[in-house]
Amino acid sequence: MTVGDRMPNSSLRRPARPHSLRGPGRRLVGVFALFILLPGAFLGVFALRVLRQESQLSGQRTRESLERTAEEIGRDLDSEFRRWNDAVRSASSLKRPLDVSSFPEIVGQAFSEPGGGVFLSLSAERLEVFPPGALLYVSGSPAPAQTAPSRPPPAGLAEAESLEIARKDYPGAIRAYRNLLDSAVVGSRPLILHRLARTLRKAGRLEEAAGAYRDLRRLAAAWIGGLPSDLIAQAELCSLASERGDTADLAREAMAFYRDLTTGKWLLDKPRYLYYSDLGRTWCRDSRVGSDEFNSLLATENQRLALSHAAEDFLNDSRTFLPGKDTAYLAFRNTDPFAAVLVSTDVLELRWWTRIFLPRGEDLKAVLSAADGSAVFGSTPPAAPPFAVTRDLRINDTQWLLQIWPGRPEAIYADIRQRRTLSLAMLGFVSVMLAFGGYLTVRIVKRELEIARLRADFVSTVSHEFRSPLTGIRQLGGMLLDGRVTDPEKQRGYFKMIVRESDRLFRLVENILDFSRMEEGRREYRFAPLDPSSWLRALAADFVTEIAANGAAVEADIQAGLPPIFADKEALGSAVRNLLDNAVKYSPGSKTVWLEAGAEGDVVKISVRDKGVGISEYDRKRIFDRFYRAEGEISKRIKGVGLGLCLVKHVVAAHGGAVECRSRIGEGSVFTIRLPAVPVRGGG
Ligand code: ADP
Repeated sequence: MTVGDRMPNSSLRRPARPHSLRGPGRRLVGVFALFILLPGAFLGVFALRVLRQESQLSGQRTRESLERTAEEIGRDLDSEFRRWNDAVRSASSLKRPLDVSSFPEIVGQAFSEPGGGVFLSLSAERLEVFPPGALLYVSGSPAPAQTAPSRPPPAGLAEAESLEIARKDYPGAIRAYRNLLDSAVVGSRPLILHRLARTLRKAGRLEEAAGAYRDLRRLAAAWIGGLPSDLIAQAELCSLASERGDTADLAREAMAFYRDLTTGKWLLDKPRYLYYSDLGRTWCRDSRVGSDEFNSLLATENQRLALSHAAEDFLNDSRTFLPGKDTAYLAFRNTDPFAAVLVSTDVLELRWWTRIFLPRGEDLKAVLSAADGSAVFGSTPPAAPPFAVTRDLRINDTQWLLQIWPGRPEAIYADIRQRRTLSLAMLGFVSVMLAFGGYLTVRIVKRELEIARLRADFVSTVSHEFRSPLTGIRQLGGMLLDGRVTDPEKQRGYFKMIVRESDRLFRLVENILDFSRMEEGRREYRFAPLDPSSWLRALAADFVTEIAANGAAVEADIQAGLPPIFADKEALGSAVRNLLDNAVKYSPGSKTVWLEAGAEGDVVKISVRDKGVGISEYDRKRIFDRFYRAEGEISKRIKGVGLGLCLVKHVVAAHGGAVECRSRIGEGSVFTIRLPAVPVRGGG
């Protein structure tokens, strides 16, 4: 720091200045890695595993929740079956005649549409069907109406029939039938009228035959040969119209016939029903009746036929589940008295879906299957529905299979993904914070260690700095005191040396004190307007005299009339001196340094230039730090404590200015101080 303190053969070797951490620093990093990074890494791995498990658990939770739902649905279905059975039990003891309003509401609803449901009651070999017309046929047991007591044929009928059939005397037979008709009781009239119409037809008197059939149709129905008389009359009228080729008449008659047939006007046995239904459809098609009505009748017939098939199956073998082609039926029954309600699964689905399934989630899909695997109701499941849950149910002494699955599994996947992303983001954030915190800690610790080490260096360097001038002063003083130097010229030279060494000590102490005040924040400045030109000239002149003894020189190039600055002359002077000291000190090969000052707008520029050792880029970034001393053999040999530039920076900053360094290794350095000029008042 001071002039002429070059110690080429210094015995006091400065310790190597490591840039990396050694000893305690490395230990600290080790401890840090062991107690923060390692547990952090473990935590990260653990958290990732937990995340993976969490994803699996989410799927499992969804499945478990569906399991619970399936269980609840099973319970609900069970109680729904019970409700239906109870309804059938109470319906089986209803007073006759039956009426829709007499059924419990739950059952009554099933009767409202064709093929929706039917109530069957079997007592003393008599089958009762409600609502009437719900079934198109019954097989096995006799049709209800046929069980009416048959009356004895009227007297004379056998004779008229023998005229008709054996002798083929149609006019005779017609007469005989007509006579009988006139005298017959009401109950016998359908039979006689049927025979009369038949004979008229055989005799080729078609118009009269049609008239007779129309009369027969008007009469209250009676059973003739296992068929209702009005059915016979209507079928014959169709047949006659067809035979006559009267399409308009056929269309009217055929439609009326098919409508009566398919709305269950007559409860026939199966073969008869199928025969007449076939005939009816042929007549309708032949006469090209209005297709809309015909099609709707066809559809109704199919619905009622499905129910009739189910009833047939049920009467053969009273099972709970009755599968059909399009619609399946469930049977709820009571054993004593034997009664049952067959309900279409479509009707049940409508009710159960809204009551049991929908409240458990709009996205829920389900299928209820019978033991044979056929679906009772619900959606057809995709090949392998994700999260599907299957449950065996035993309800009403029957085995069922319930399968439920979420309709939108992608929503569940998305939810799982979202939660995972969130957790990952949090994990990432914590990791980044940990890494950043770690980095900061290492940096701070490294810095503090470096400073601690520099401080230790500083003590040894300062001691040395003190020692050599003190030694000089002591020796010179001793020599003068002993009177060993008698030549007045020599004495004067020694005194000068003592003063110079004392100055050096003084400046060193000043610098240390300044630094200590600066560190504690109690360095005070006394600012006053200062004319930089004259001040710098005086400073240069002083410095020149000081260094002349060492053979060094300062070339000053101070612009005249520089704008005034507001400065603490002492502090700023010591800063410039520090720069000049360094310039001389770090220029072992060159004896001249340059002090230049100029103005750049409102800024006063003071530069100290040398052609010395130069400063590397790495060091340039650090030389203004406290205790920092550059690497390099030369600067290692040159004494210094690493405070000068730190003080320069502090002083210049206190003056509202800045200091910068430009340098090239081996070529020299320029330190430039920029200070704001005092604004000139009054437009001068
Ligand atoms: P020192 O007491 O070591 O001179 P300074 O703070 O004054 O402390 O300087 C810090 C370091 O900057 C010095 O150790 C030196 O390596 C470098 N340095 C400062 N001035 C110059 C210069 N003019 N030429 C080369 N190096 C310099």
